[in-house]
Amino acid sequence: MSSFTPPRRLSETAADFIDEALLHGLLQGSAEPGRVREIIAKSRSKEALSLDETACLLKAELPDLIEEIFDAARSLKRDVYGNRIVLFAPLYIGSECTNDCAYCAFRRSNRDVQRRTLSPDEIREQVQALLDRGHKRLILVFGEHPSYSANFIADCVRAVYAVRRPKASIRRVNINAAPMDHEGFAAIKAAGIGTYQIFQETYHHETYARVHPRSTRKGDYLWRLDALSRAMEAGCDDVGIGALFGLYDWKFEVLGLVAHALFLQSQYGVGPHTISFPRLRPAAGVRLDERHRVADADFKRLIAILRLAVPYTGLILTAREPPELRREVMEFGVSQIDAGSRIELGGYTEAGDAQVLDREQFALGDLRPLDEVLRQLIVDGYIPSFCTACYRLGRTGEHFMEYAIPGFIQQFCTPNALTTLMEYLVDYGSQETYEAGMGLIRSELDKLPDGPRKAALIERLNRIRETDQRDLYF
Ligand code: SAM
Ligand code: SF4
Repeated sequence: MSSFTPPRRLSETAADFIDEALLHGLLQGSAEPGRVREIIAKSRSKEALSLDETACLLKAELPDLIEEIFDAARSLKRDVYGNRIVLFAPLYIGSECTNDCAYCAFRRSNRDVQRRTLSPDEIREQVQALLDRGHKRLILVFGEHPSYSANFIADCVRAVYAVRRPKASIRRVNINAAPMDHEGFAAIKAAGIGTYQIFQETYHHETYARVHPRSTRKGDYLWRLDALSRAMEAGCDDVGIGALFGLYDWKFEVLGLVAHALFLQSQYGVGPHTISFPRLRPAAGVRLDERHRVADADFKRLIAILRLAVPYTGLILTAREPPELRREVMEFGVSQIDAGSRIELGGYTEAGDAQVLDREQFALGDLRPLDEVLRQLIVDGYIPSFCTACYRLGRTGEHFMEYAIPGFIQQFCTPNALTTLMEYLVDYGSQETYEAGMGLIRSELDKLPDGPRKAALIERLNRIRETDQRDLYF
């Protein structure tokens, strides 16, 4: 088959900034404990790390040093994000795909998966079901296909925002869809998307070529690597990067992610808003190559090291992982998780309790309903949050960085987390979750200093509990 050559205009800064020889070189040899401790100290002061410094943490193999990295990640997470965890849900819109990614059930050569694209009515039904469970933030997910043009995606975003329930609507719609051109990014921005997210899958060129046939659009490494630069130039300054862990050496992929973050920061003055680190999961019709499987112990390390390397970037942990592991790794720096997720097309109304593998992209590891995940978070000392305030008040991109300063959490994040939690408890929470949540709200209020902000917060919490007023954010 001949190579696919899309008409393409790359970004103004387009460059393959993944220097493999450099990254491999940085990972050679072992880490000197004194140097590892110096780097940990630097990251504790919330300074982003260089590639060289990140590589040094990746090379730390002594159990004591690894524990010190975990401790630093725990405390940095508390300093930068407090104890909030933001909750969202994925909504799969279409499983048509012209690519042939070796690891994915949606790949075009898989005849056994059901192909489907939700109609506007079906999108509305799914969104209603999600709203009725308490969700406020969604990420829409698409295969790569000519029918999923930027305008189609923009229409889906508008359709989601238009769905109304008596006291609720979706307040933030993020996107995970194939790379677009500048015009496409401008179209989805105009529809009001929050984060545009795309994963490079692997930063290692040879592996990339092996799992993404050159005859497909996704086979073009640079078109994908450059996508977020085009997004920035088109005005989408809120972007998410990611790597699919298990395709190649995990340490190399961490350096690839950090290189990508540093590149965006240096070229556009703002790094990615989020980093995702999905691990490969079983999928219909896929025989997984286990060579680079990432063990749980290494998964924890990679999360902690990412936390230290990019202190102000959100880290997303998905329901691909099983509940116990999610619980365990959350403290190393995760800021967002999905909950109550179903990824079968139409899964929020049509699927039963068990997963239907031939209707989904891969198998999930955590199928607990939102209410249960949320209650567990409360029991573990986190504040579940559905806050969307920053994005709606324009506190994104480089502006967001200005706000990621001491005091911001107490002024904005904790109050917004508590008001959105109160909304959930009053409107959707089970009795058990309601009681646990009210206890948490009381104890968080006790921790806040007295003053006008606390008084305003208490007034809003009361208003939410006693009236139908909602969406009161700082
Ligand atoms: N089609 C778009 C694309 O490839 O960019 C949308 C993304 S896809 C629907 C979402 C992500 O799921 C992919 O970027 C990939 O990282 C991940 N994924 C695909 N197959 C997977 C598997 N078997 N296990 C875990 N994650 C997988
Ligand atoms: Fe298509 Fe995305 Fe799956 Fe690749 S990962 S086959 S592009 S849906």
